[in-house]
Amino acid sequence: VYAPEVYASSVQEKSFIMIKPDGIHRGLIADIIKRFEAKGYKLVAIKVMVPSKDLASKHYEEHAQRPFYPGLVTFLSSGPVVAMVWEGKDVIKYGRKMIGATNPLASTPGTIRGDYGIDVGRNIIHGSDSVESAQREIALWFGAGELAEYDLAMGKWVYE
Ligand code: UDP
Repeated sequence: VYAPEVYASSVQEKSFIMIKPDGIHRGLIADIIKRFEAKGYKLVAIKVMVPSKDLASKHYEEHAQRPFYPGLVTFLSSGPVVAMVWEGKDVIKYGRKMIGATNPLASTPGTIRGDYGIDVGRNIIHGSDSVESAQREIALWFGAGELAEYDLAMGKWVYE
């Protein structure tokens, strides 16, 4: 039975996914979006922007004490980035699988970082690593009114 209220409520979650400046400059936007879309996930927010240093610093604040932090913030705020929110069942954990390991050379071929990256500081894409970080990051990058609510027509062919 097609019951949109079932997949619309209990199993859906949102992840903050961001194509970093290297991904944009390397022409990977369409490929990355295509992977999430073809998987069955739903795009509910997207924007291109050059983030301020303040925004980039807040995004990576958990790494503030790490040696790579200043370079990471400079790199991210050089922009542009494509900031997105993708929604669907287990999108946080499974999105991380699609992205691959932090170090692209340790990422499995077939993942985004495994297919396209080499150095850890140029690993193309960010994805939230937990429900808590997803909520924090979505609120940091998007206003409440910027998330679209809609039923994806293919939903009934993706979810049973
Ligand atoms: N990073 C880096 N050098 C390091 C470790 C991390 O430049 O030695 C950068 C890299 O871009 C990574 C980001 O810091 O994506 C955040 O690190 P985290 O461990 O949270 O990895 P992720 O969640 O992105 O896989």
